[in-house]
Amino acid sequence: MTKNILWREGWIKPLLTESLPSEKCGICNREFGELDFVTSCEFCEIGIIHDICANNHISTTHAKELGEKINKHKEKQLHSFQ
Ligand SMILES: [Zn+2]
Ligand SMILES: [Zn+2]
Repeated sequence: MTKNILWREGWIKPLLTESLPSEKCGICNREFGELDFVTSCEFCEIGIIHDICANNHISTTHAKELGEKINKHKEKQLHSFQ
């Protein structure tokens, strides 16, 4: 069966926690560790969060926005074939 999967850009941008407004994840509230993967949420202003926390956050908190985005993408695909 066809599944919707979510592509994240593959490039990595190194950052220092010093340069962040907070050294803690906005979701689990734990301090970032060395070489933790972090990201931000495109749907809200939660700030810098762990990549794994973001996955869970986006697929639960933003299920509706995510659904809209998936539908928009499908419409675009249809148009490009017409
Ligand atoms: Zn976290
Ligand atoms: Zn969010």
